[in-house]
Amino acid sequence: MKMKGFGTIIHGESVGFIEKDIPEPGEFEALLEPVVIAPCTSDVHIAFEQGHNDARNYRILGHESVGRIVKLGPGCKEYKVGDIVVVPCTTPNWRTLEVQDGAYQHSGGLCQGMRIGTSQDGVMAEYYLVNDVEMNTAKIPDGVPLESALMVSDMMTTGFHGVELAGVEFGDNVVVIGSGPVGLMAIAAAKLRGAARIIAVGSRRHCSELAKFYGASDVINYKEGDIYEQIMYLTGGKKVDRTVIAGGGTEQLPIAYKLTRPAGGIGDLVAADTPPRLNIDTADFCRFVAHHKLSGGLCPGGRRRAERLLGLIKYGRIDPSVMLTHKCYGLEGCKEGFELMHKKPEDLVKPIVYMNV
Ligand code: NDP
Ligand code: ZN
Repeated sequence: MKMKGFGTIIHGESVGFIEKDIPEPGEFEALLEPVVIAPCTSDVHIAFEQGHNDARNYRILGHESVGRIVKLGPGCKEYKVGDIVVVPCTTPNWRTLEVQDGAYQHSGGLCQGMRIGTSQDGVMAEYYLVNDVEMNTAKIPDGVPLESALMVSDMMTTGFHGVELAGVEFGDNVVVIGSGPVGLMAIAAAKLRGAARIIAVGSRRHCSELAKFYGASDVINYKEGDIYEQIMYLTGGKKVDRTVIAGGGTEQLPIAYKLTRPAGGIGDLVAADTPPRLNIDTADFCRFVAHHKLSGGLCPGGRRRAERLLGLIKYGRIDPSVMLTHKCYGLEGCKEGFELMHKKPEDLVKPIVYMNV
């Protein structure tokens, strides 16, 4: 039996519709049909850039989904056909030694915990497979709308991780570079963690408005001047306690070092590889001996993580659905949503594609 999907045709060059065999779920796996999915900036990186987990020709894209279980493989005990679950974009193999080293995002190799839409076919399809489905996905509790649950899959878990990586504490002054959906969730997470001042960096008007909605005290536009100078102007020359990088490229790293106080924290989420090399003026931050703590990280997955984030939505701590600015429908909508993420129109924050609601 065949199914259709949207993905790479020639990796690095072209995308389009492709046909594949419907996969058969193996041990602990499930076959799902997508209910709602969200195209992502990372889909564009995965389709057109190198270095993303063996992304290759004829790979179905998409890794953010809420799906309905269609068929369960041997070994699944708790779930049943028809259950609707959030599928985090990182779905590690929990039976690997990397898990015992606390690096489950890298289970099976560097960044290999993120499999869906990279090293295996993704969610922009009629059907998709999820490995270790009962450990990697979470059922949606009553009172949590599908749209909000969908944002748990990547935007919430990633944005929140930026704040965890930077180590935000009560009363911290925090900069979040990037006010796309990941940066917005980092802003919301910094607020939940008790940050005092939160300075957001972005340029699109709608994103900047939402940055304030989610908790930014100030928003600066990186197109209107140097980020460091603008922030020093706002703070009267005082460096901030924590910086989360959720936009731009690797060139944000030296900016983050320069902005952040000695022994402060930097959480880097940007997965783009441009530019691939950095020319850093290390004198700006004392040649790396200022006790900065830099952590870069891939979005955390796992059922317990998803359940915790769903709990924050259920009990009214956050409403991530406000970020959904564009609605698309069906497989054609996957293509439309991908193109939106590629072109980033002024009024876009995040698209949703309704597939089998
Ligand atoms: P968006 O493209 O929607 O948002 C990026 C933000 O960064 C926008 O606010 C943009 O501003 C801003 N920006 C762009 N260039 C610069 C610059 N030179 N200086 C400062 N700000 C800049 O992306 P997402 O929010 O969807 O994702 C953010 C990043 O996180 C991406 O690189 C994505 O690949 C990565 N990511 C990483 C994951 C992980 O596991 N580590 C998981 C998911 C995503 P403007 O308003 O002008 O567009
Ligand atoms: Zn994503």
